[in-house]
Amino acid sequence: MDDKKSFHMTSEEFRRYGKELIDWIADYHEMIETFPVLSQASPGQVRSGLPDEPPRQGEAFSAMLKDVEDVILPGITHWQSPDFFAFFPANTSGPSILGELLSAGLGVQGMLWATSPACTELETHVLDWVAGMLGLPARFTSSGSGGGVIQDSASSALLCALLAARERATDFVSNEQGCDGRLTAYGSTQTHSSLEKAMRIAGLGRENLRQIAVDENFAMSAQALDAAIRRDRAAGKVPSFVCATVGTTSSTGFDPLPQIADICRDHGLWLHVDGAMAGSAAICPEFRGLQEGVERADSYCFNPHKWLFTNFDCDCFYVADRQALVRTLTVLPEYLRNQASESGAVFDYRDWQIPLGRRFRALKLWFVVRHYGVEGLQYHIREHVRLAQQFASWVRDHPDFELTVDPPLNLVCFRHRAGDDFNQRLLERLNAGGKIYLTHTRLAERFTLRLCVGQTHTEERHVRRAWKLICETAHLLEKG
Ligand SMILES: *Cc1c(COP(=O)(O)O)cnc(C)c1O
Repeated sequence: MDDKKSFHMTSEEFRRYGKELIDWIADYHEMIETFPVLSQASPGQVRSGLPDEPPRQGEAFSAMLKDVEDVILPGITHWQSPDFFAFFPANTSGPSILGELLSAGLGVQGMLWATSPACTELETHVLDWVAGMLGLPARFTSSGSGGGVIQDSASSALLCALLAARERATDFVSNEQGCDGRLTAYGSTQTHSSLEKAMRIAGLGRENLRQIAVDENFAMSAQALDAAIRRDRAAGKVPSFVCATVGTTSSTGFDPLPQIADICRDHGLWLHVDGAMAGSAAICPEFRGLQEGVERADSYCFNPHKWLFTNFDCDCFYVADRQALVRTLTVLPEYLRNQASESGAVFDYRDWQIPLGRRFRALKLWFVVRHYGVEGLQYHIREHVRLAQQFASWVRDHPDFELTVDPPLNLVCFRHRAGDDFNQRLLERLNAGGKIYLTHTRLAERFTLRLCVGQTHTEERHVRRAWKLICETAHLLEKG
């Protein structure tokens, strides 16, 4: 033990290491294509490279960075690689990373307006901007009765919506006495699994979730929805919530919002619209028709952390009636009382989300919007859609491959005609090769490959190379 009075990183050290780290990240992004996209680490490999005990004495920053390279990087799946076509993208960008860094540097807790006015006001303002950029209605903005808030995820947004719906359906009695098991909610068989999770967490119960059938485009059948609601009514249930999806996770299916909105209006249900990935496309006016009817929803969310160059976590959640949400989630202990809140002139975003504390996430979204401008964002979204459509045309033209559905945007669902086993082996072989990373789903009970174009730096050459590799690998497999 030396006689140091402080163990903190000095300002000088911070400057030096900070610049080194930025350089490291820039280098990483420059050479990202040299790594296998999908981590080839085996279970336990990363931990076996770490010491059993934490250090007794502080270590040099250079030692940490070295371990990042030696121990951590082999265990990284390179989500920012332009050859990453799996799941949905989690694309990021320079301005986003810098906004995230600034948020950490300011280190504020934005739970109340009073705990950092800028944290709340920038968020309100940027979410109003984004609503305008996506062509969302004024009722989702702070100038109307609604407003937007940044959540960590679409799952949390959905849970908040379900909770508000639960309270609206029971005149705020569930908040006091709990659920009585009568409330029911509706999604489709293609709705994201976060609805089932939210049903359990919100106390409605999984058995009260109805998974409505879909049509050949994997869109919810409005007729089946209406029938299910009537059936539940007749059985003494209280239908309260519909989650419609614009761009389902498996295949980018679009639920028919105008019909669903009619049904919700007729039966008095809360309509939540989940646009997690595809919502970003609405920044281009030509794609807005896909989510026509969204203006009639009670709540809406999409994830800039999927397809708008903003690193996780950043989900934009909009409600038409902020009072319903705030009344559902507000709790006011003495230690949080303050004049600004009591004046009613400010938003306290802790009342719009599950946790109390919150990070200054609006900074990164603000940086992204300002760096790219609306036109820059439109350009890149269009480019991703163009590349996916080009890939789809190659699939269409190939005798051995077929599209599972016509891709509306940037996700192509396709398969080899040789059947499930073959497609599964094809996927495994492709991903083991490390040059690209794709994932799969099951559509109409058939094993389907998914190629989603959405990485920040994915260009035509990457998509071309992916197709070539898929064809060559399939050819090798055919020959045994
Ligand atoms: C990805 C996805 C989600 C979940 O997103 P999180 O932000 O990770 O919770 C929800 N819904 C849809 C349609 C999605 O594609």
